[in-house]
Formats: sequence, C-alpha cells, structure tokens
Amino acid sequence: MELALSHPKYGYYITRDPFGTEGDFITAPEISQLFGEMIGIWCAYSWQQMGCPEHILLVELGPGRGTLMQDALRATRHISGFHQAISVHMVETSPVLARLQQEKLAGCHPRINWHLEFQEVPAIPMLLVANEFFDALPVHQYISIGGKFHEQYVGIDKLTGELAFTLSPIHIALPAHDYPDGAMFERCPVGEMIAADIAGRIRDHGGAALVIDYGYKREELKEYAGSVQAVKAHHYQKLLDHLGEADITAHVDFSALSTAMGKDVQSFYTTQGAFLTHMGIDNRAMMLAEKATPKQAEDLRNAVDRLVSSHNMGELFKVMAICPHHQPPPAGFQ
Ligand code: SAH
Repeated sequence: MELALSHPKYGYYITRDPFGTEGDFITAPEISQLFGEMIGIWCAYSWQQMGCPEHILLVELGPGRGTLMQDALRATRHISGFHQAISVHMVETSPVLARLQQEKLAGCHPRINWHLEFQEVPAIPMLLVANEFFDALPVHQYISIGGKFHEQYVGIDKLTGELAFTLSPIHIALPAHDYPDGAMFERCPVGEMIAADIAGRIRDHGGAALVIDYGYKREELKEYAGSVQAVKAHHYQKLLDHLGEADITAHVDFSALSTAMGKDVQSFYTTQGAFLTHMGIDNRAMMLAEKATPKQAEDLRNAVDRLVSSHNMGELFKVMAICPHHQPPPAGFQ
C-alpha cells in the first residue's frame, strides 16, 4: 500500500492529481466550498477559545488540491486578528499536489510553508486539520485461522507469476479464539505514530486537532472484514490489479487513533453529518443561496445533502477532535 501510493517514481499520489469528476475520486472539499468554510470557522473558534494567542500554526496534513485551505482562509479573513496570528503549514508528500497547492494558495496568506512530514512542523501551539489523510496511510492486515492471527502479505503466485495475497506462516502473539475463521483486523502503525505525535504537541504546546475520515470506532464494527479498497475512475477495482494507478485506502480505526493519542488530551467523536450541522452548514448554504442563481442554489442544496445526509457521506465519515484537558469542548460536538 505504501509503495503503491508513495513510491518516489511510480507512486499513485506522486505522479498525478487524482481528484474531481474527471479524476479517480472526489473528496468533501471538492464537493463544495461549504466544507472548507466550516473547517476554517472551527479553527478560528478554537483559536478564540484559547484566548486568541498571538502566534499559532494552522497545519493541514495531506491537503490534496489545497481547496480546503483556500476556503478556510477565505471564510476567516474577517475574523479580527486571526490571519495575523496564524502561519500556514502544509504537510504533503506529493510534489505534483504540492505544486497545485502553491498555485491555488498564492496570495491567500503571507506565510505558507510546505513540509514532507509532520515531524518538520515547528513545535508551537497549532490548529491541525486532516481530511482523508489517515485513510491513505498503509495498514497491516491479520486473518484469524484456527484461533490464531496470521499477517496477510503480498507475494508472487508461483503458477501465474502475478502478485497475489499470501499468509505469513508465523502467527502473531494476539490470540484469535473469539474470532471466526477468516475474520480480519487491520492496524495502521504509521497513523498511530502520527496521532501520538499530534497529541504530544497539543499536550505540550496547546491547540486543537480535527481529523475527518471514513472510519469507525471498534464498538461500531458489525463484521470483521478488511476495509482496504482500490478506486480508479470512480469504480472499485481488485486491489492488486492497478498498483500505482488506483487510489488505495483503508477505513480509519478511530479507537486505535484515540488510544495512540493517550489520556493527556480530551477527544471528541461524532459523524460528519452531525458535525457540519452543528457548525451551521445549513445557515451558511442559505446565505449563499440568497445571492445565487436558481441552478447554483440547487447545486448548494445537493452539496449539503452529499456532505450531511446519512445515505451519503454524513454517517460513513466521522470527525474526531482533540484538545488539552483545560480547554472547553470544541465547536461542533454538542
Ligand atoms: N485532504 C485532501 C486530499 C485527500 S487525499 C482532500 O480532502 O481533498 C490524501 C492526501 O494525503 C494527498 O494530498 C496525498 O498526497 C497526501 N498524502 C498521502 N500520504 C501522505 C504522507 N505519508 N504524508 C503526507 N501526505 C500524504
């Protein structure tokens, strides 16, 4: 998964811009400006809850086309003192996407920096946003067989010479007695490490973080099946068929992220639909619709429906926020 997405020459994200109706998939910020605007308001509100510190970082992990940041910056332009206080830090591995972000954000803010990884971001108070970032990080898969978990690997089929899934002959220490044969669970060690780093920064320096992704808490799981999927041109593909040419993602295990973040920060969890509704997406859409053509007003209604309603992204996507214990709960989680 890591090679297919991030190989320096052939990696999926390294070689292309995958977003939009003509690309492989579409994300919330690309559906409507309302999404980035709500996130921008959330950040500015969190900054106010902290007592409007003079210097704070606005960090985005995996910013794609830069659309979310552009909308967030525009929506917060008139919030007194916010733009003066922030410097923007974009964490992006893909040179193609970093270039797109640079073009899109030119003139949006005087202080915008790019980094290849989160570790490079200076350690001072920060507001951090990650939309559909953790789902792109590589997972390990374990399958239960006869009461024991074996890791699933990718190998080469001796007969066909093609890539194929295979199981490690060695089982891992975790017992699988409670799981039926074939049950699968996933772990994302890279994601857990980044989550722990984020929480450590927020504990030590202050701030807040917002993670949005399709995923689950363990208690919500109804079956133990793997969630890794490949998507190309808006269609699911067999996982090993289009390596480097299809997006590969896994659902985010928010329980694991929360455990990795530890008890030194408070964490909050809800659905994307509930979060955006509490943030006032309906009012904002109505305000925009007043000045819109009938076609634009209909597009706005459709966009809100896609982002919020339970049969679209509203329930599949979850939102997790963290902040220090002494801070009041962040907006959007009433
Ligand atoms: N947040 C954007 C893009 C989501 S796609 C949106 O919602 O539209 C995932 C993004 O994460 C891409 O920008 C990809 O290049 C980036 N990415 C993937 N793995 C990464 C890593 N290990 N470090 C930093 N960025 C990464």
